Amino acid sequence: MSKKFDVIVVGGGPAGMMAAITAAMNGAQVALFEKNKRLGKKLLMTGGGRCNVTNNRSVDDLIFHIPGNGRFLYSTFSQFDNQDVMNFFSERGVALKEEDHGRIFPVSDKSATIVNTLKTELETLNVAVHYKEPIEKIITDGTTIQGVRTAEGDYAAKSVVITTGGITYPSTGSQGDGYRFAKSVGHHVTPLYPTESPIFLTDDFVMDKTLQGLSLQDVTLAVVDEKNKIIASHEMDLLFTHFGVSGPAALRCSSFVNQLLRKQETVTLTLDCFPEQSKHELLETINEQLNDSTKQLKNALSGLLPERLLLFFLEQVGISDQTYAQTSKEQFATFVEYCKHWQITANKTFGLEKSFVTGGGVELKEVNPKDLSSKKIPGLFFAGEVLDVNGYTGGYNITTAFCTGNVAGTNAAYYAFA
Ligand SMILES: Cc1cc2nc3c(=O)[nH]c(=O)nc-3n(C[C@H](O)[C@H](O)[C@H](O)COP(=O)(O)OP(=O)(O)OC[C@H]3O[C@@H](n4cnc5c(N)ncnc54)[C@H](O)[C@@H]3O)c2cc1C
Repeated sequence: MSKKFDVIVVGGGPAGMMAAITAAMNGAQVALFEKNKRLGKKLLMTGGGRCNVTNNRSVDDLIFHIPGNGRFLYSTFSQFDNQDVMNFFSERGVALKEEDHGRIFPVSDKSATIVNTLKTELETLNVAVHYKEPIEKIITDGTTIQGVRTAEGDYAAKSVVITTGGITYPSTGSQGDGYRFAKSVGHHVTPLYPTESPIFLTDDFVMDKTLQGLSLQDVTLAVVDEKNKIIASHEMDLLFTHFGVSGPAALRCSSFVNQLLRKQETVTLTLDCFPEQSKHELLETINEQLNDSTKQLKNALSGLLPERLLLFFLEQVGISDQTYAQTSKEQFATFVEYCKHWQITANKTFGLEKSFVTGGGVELKEVNPKDLSSKKIPGLFFAGEVLDVNGYTGGYNITTAFCTGNVAGTNAAYYAFA
């Protein structure tokens, strides 16, 4: 093998760029291979093109927001966490700002600010970035890592870091190659499934387009199992679409929907449009608003809910054209039930291709949490979404990618010099 490096990083997403930078900061000669003609194609898409760099929370809270094996990351975050991610960019002149739910963005509102900063750092540290050169194979002698193979030839390295991402949005380059590489050296990959995905509903109101395009702020969407137990609930925004629901609340519930769909055909979701009020309090609010009004309820209750949803709920109970005096206590109780505990039915989410994040990945039992090295073959490291870790959108996956990238890159350099 004519070309030699200390560390080779496979994949130029946030995990790979950070791994390459950190390995180089630790004195290693590093090559980064990216199959696209540019770095960070998926990262550029996040946060609606503004790049949701990280999230400003305590480490415990970060882990809570990484429902797919977040606890595996305690050791990673004890070495490099979200505050370190923010410092990394601030020290390189990137002004950051915090938005709702702790989400951190560059003040420029442009993902390119983040990707360009990483690219400049790679250049400053003399990392050899090989664009449009996909890794085809990880080379081993059966016991240790020897290097990698591309269509251009073989490259030798003492350490190889796999940061090829998941398998969602394959047009970004994340096409599951890393799972193949991991398997080729004896690793297991847990079943892959879509997470952070819009949800399809079977209810008639979807087919009828009754609520299509309606968005609700700060409502609670919950996933309920067959024993009527709530297994996940999220108070966030929700959007009704032509197929079902999307928006942050739906995305967060989607992995739980998929887990239940493995054993049942449909999954019940409940929607609470007034999470800050009990049923009793809501009834009082309604009574105050009606104040013995003689108007039809659809007019008298105007403003309680977005107009289309109000009308829909009133029609479900059959009271939209009635007045306060014509409506029974039981009918009001049913209306309140719709407002607080409306049951809708999911039968699938988008597939892996159209979901934001891959659930499942390289089996974590076979990876050392302290340094992210392979327990199967010395010199191999993993970071980012290729691991069996998935978080909510809102910066949690990107934080995972940057932080695991830092730890894997550091330890890949240490291993190369050992
Ligand atoms: C539309 C969208 C919005 C998102 N929004 C958010 C958000 O708001 N918050 C959040 O936390 N997460 C979000 N995510 C998820 C987040 O972008 C990913 O979790 C994150 O980018 C994973 O980083 P990574 O470095 O592990 O992998 P990736 O970013 O997927 O990068 C992997 C790289 O490896 C390259 N590669 C693959 N195979 C090879 C090979 N054989 N040889 C060479 N190179 C290879 C790919 O081309 C790619 O550039 C979003 C995802 C999408 C699709």
